[in-house]
Amino acid sequence: MYTVVNMIWEDILSFIFPERCIGCGREGSALCAICERAITTKAKALSGTTAILFDYQQPLVKKAIWALKYHRRRALGRYFGTALYREFFKQLIKGGKHLGEEIILLPIPANKKALASRGYNHAAIIAETIVKCGKADGMRISAPRNVLYKKKEVLQQVKARGRVKRAQNVANAFDIRDGEKLFGKTVILIDDVITTGATMSEARRVVRVWKPKRILALAVAH
Ligand SMILES: [Zn+2]
Repeated sequence: MYTVVNMIWEDILSFIFPERCIGCGREGSALCAICERAITTKAKALSGTTAILFDYQQPLVKKAIWALKYHRRRALGRYFGTALYREFFKQLIKGGKHLGEEIILLPIPANKKALASRGYNHAAIIAETIVKCGKADGMRISAPRNVLYKKKEVLQQVKARGRVKRAQNVANAFDIRDGEKLFGKTVILIDDVITTGATMSEARRVVRVWKPKRILALAVAH
């Protein structure tokens, strides 16, 4: 079980032992500037309402997502959040056009088991970083915790093979709390990886009930 004590201890450790780059091991940050430049940004729309930033097949991207999810490298979540913000949100508010629009980010919730062993939801770290950047630019943006939540524990999606299995696995997994706050707003679902899109469609389905103005989906990689 992951506890607050673990988290504080990790913070102390990261203070004593500074972050090391997951690419080259250099001390200083979770991803150094040189390795960062080696990742080619590939902002791409998967549909009219879904976009991703990186190709999951890039070894360093895969490694970074893995480290964020399984090795408690929270700093990488902040890196991805900042990268998504730069690529997708900066454009949106250029010229102040969409500045007044209220945007609600909903991170895809993690499995209880993963949450207990990891201590955080990685998608929430990404979303909260985007919010921080957006607020600094004057945006009306928030990422409420637990609005989108998991009502049913499912197998981790990586363990469900194939498009049909993945869709079945995630069916009815989510629900919404305080849904009225989504009415008429722009809702953006946030996740790390989109594979078949089953998770995003299931999340969309429960969000749609509350009649937001639009529902978009954004992920780090595909
Ligand atoms: Zn490096």
